[in-house]
Amino acid sequence: SQSYQGAERHVVFGKYETGKLLGKGTFAKVYYGKEMASGDSVAIKVINKDQVKKEGMMDQIQREISVMRMVRHPNVVELKEVMATKTKIFFVMEYVRGGELFAKVASGKLKEDQARRYFQQLISAVDFCHSRGVSHRDLKPENLLLDENEDLKISDFGLSALPEQLRHDGLLHTQCGTPAYVAPEVLRKKGYDGSKADIWSCGVILFVLLAGFLPFREENLMKMYRKIFKAEFECPKWFTAESKRLICKLLVPDPDRRITIQAIMRVPWFCKGFSRPPSFS
Ligand code: ADP
Ligand code: MG
Repeated sequence: SQSYQGAERHVVFGKYETGKLLGKGTFAKVYYGKEMASGDSVAIKVINKDQVKKEGMMDQIQREISVMRMVRHPNVVELKEVMATKTKIFFVMEYVRGGELFAKVASGKLKEDQARRYFQQLISAVDFCHSRGVSHRDLKPENLLLDENEDLKISDFGLSALPEQLRHDGLLHTQCGTPAYVAPEVLRKKGYDGSKADIWSCGVILFVLLAGFLPFREENLMKMYRKIFKAEFECPKWFTAESKRLICKLLVPDPDRRITIQAIMRVPWFCKGFSRPPSFS
């Protein structure tokens, strides 16, 4: 059924009423929604089944659902319920009203304290996911949302991997993610540890927050890959020595020599003002 209010079109799904389009992804459109009985805000991700089936991504959607149910954490977008019709799948999620971290970065570099706070929240959420056996594999500022308290929430587990995807060698073999944020071992297509690859992406994100631009900037994709393989980047002069040192430990091409989450959490630059958020699972 449909109802109209002002100029905005409101389509009603079950107990929810949807409003404006919040964002678009590859297979999905995300709308603002309201639970009619309570008036609570939600975000509803609408996925087109036909398109997903055509591209053989149904398993991945199923995985996205299982993963989101497994990783309940203050810095991860909460999945409230899943509904489906013949043609569509609906993810009802908590509504994160502050938009993408990407928008913040697009208007320039952040102050170090602000960047650190986002990075601390990112790392605690990523640590939690890894402890549940989940690697995200598509960490980038477009998939990090901010709530009304400027708290970061990881979203879009559409490319995430679970342990059952590991082959006999215990490594992941699917190439995914966004080139500028992707770890060298993922680009090499030889099998990789999803958790270590996530840490690389966190390194690129930290660089972007502090710099306002990407560490590996190159129009030509092959040239960009070459820079990523060698971790060829330069920290801008305004980076402090401590933040520079941490970035140099994160953006290490050899995944086995890259800093671990446990070690990140012991770095003095990271620890400043850090208190581990309570996690409920
Ligand atoms: P895709 O998997 O297709 O990339 P996403 O899950 O990343 O889709 O959602 C696309 C966009 O919708 C996001 O980049 C964001 O702008 C918006 N969005 C997604 N989830 C929420 C949410 N819970 N609250 C507010 N906006 C959201
Ligand atoms: Mg996305």
